[in-house]
Amino acid sequence: MKKHTLAIHGGYAPDAETGATAPPIYQTISFAYQTAEELSEVFAGTAPGHVYTRITNPTPYALEQRLTKLEGGVGSLVCSSGMAAITCVVAGLLRTGDHVLSTAGIFGGTVSLFKNTFGRFGVETTFVDAADTEELANNLRKNTKLIFVETIGNPRMDVPDIPAIADLAHQAGIPLVVDSTLTTPILIQPKNWGADIVVHSTSKFINGHGNSIGGAIIDTGNFSWSDGPFEDIRELAKKAGQLAFLAQLRNLIYRDLGCCPAPFNSFLTLTGLETLPGRMDRHCANAQQLAEFLQKHPKVCWVNYPGLPSSPFYARAQKLFDGRGGGLLTFGLGNRNAAFGFINATKLAQNMTNLGDAKTLVLHPASTIFHEFGLDEQKSMGVSEDMVRVSVGIEDFDDIRDDFAQALAQT
Ligand SMILES: *Cc1c(COP(=O)(O)O)cnc(C)c1O
Repeated sequence: MKKHTLAIHGGYAPDAETGATAPPIYQTISFAYQTAEELSEVFAGTAPGHVYTRITNPTPYALEQRLTKLEGGVGSLVCSSGMAAITCVVAGLLRTGDHVLSTAGIFGGTVSLFKNTFGRFGVETTFVDAADTEELANNLRKNTKLIFVETIGNPRMDVPDIPAIADLAHQAGIPLVVDSTLTTPILIQPKNWGADIVVHSTSKFINGHGNSIGGAIIDTGNFSWSDGPFEDIRELAKKAGQLAFLAQLRNLIYRDLGCCPAPFNSFLTLTGLETLPGRMDRHCANAQQLAEFLQKHPKVCWVNYPGLPSSPFYARAQKLFDGRGGGLLTFGLGNRNAAFGFINATKLAQNMTNLGDAKTLVLHPASTIFHEFGLDEQKSMGVSEDMVRVSVGIEDFDDIRDDFAQALAQT
């Protein structure tokens, strides 16, 4: 099956007992068994079954099956949020004294997670310009245990050379983790470019309707867990093979940290996922047209969108993302006042900190999601005072353009 079909049918057949076509919401914590023998077998892993929703539940499980298929992976784990997914991956692989090599200009929450939260536990992170693969290589250390990149950095809109960075990771014998939130499996299957682990904030495009927070981890099957530098996972691989990493998370890290999603959120995400391929087509087409419109507008100082030939990442985005530039763009209006004026004048576009919603959203990154960082730090993250970020929705393009035109006229 191909992507449009998989998004609707992948990993779930109508419920055997009732024939329900929508995946039922198993709003329960625990699961009862007839006999002590049965429950002990499920605990031992010798019989299939669900025991407790913090570990597994059939509704999130259906979402995991569908995401595994869409990413072409060997298995998935869905989490309470995108941050929970990244936390699990790092906590599942690293120990005190280990090092993360990450691209700079990634999602601010992830920067803080690496720097502040994991920093407290003695895991150090180096952030390197995503455009500079050579500099990434220079910053590899003996104790580097994973490389982390985003498919499109936000708000810099930079696209790392994923296949080259995958080679780098594999020469060092460590996994490449790719946060593909901005691209989704519809624009890129990172597996095909060498990525070992894919993470998503499903809160964004995958859910698509801004109604439930969630995250996902997909093991692409590229990394051989029986070889890597992770002793405990190597040991697990003797029994679990390629599923060793996900088993390590499910039975230890994810379970202990309590990263499970609410079944109702997984249901809403599954519903949103059905239309993801069609929505991504429209997000990308609208963003492309809006970028071109803004680039020609006299009040706009600059536009940054990987789908514009003026972007230094245009050729790479065309190659990696199947000829598309994604649904997010940034543009500059010269100063903070103008940026605020524009945002206040929009009528259709909503001012909020989210992205990947069906609705068009605008945001002033410097005073919102990046407000806790100093000016120099903001600059290094690609944030400027005059920047407006747009998550381009799937409304009729003419309505989006008219709203932007009238708001620009007032700025
Ligand atoms: C939003 C986002 C996250 C965090 O996801 P939450 O679901 O908000 O926890 C991580 N990475 C990227 C690229 C994001 O956009």
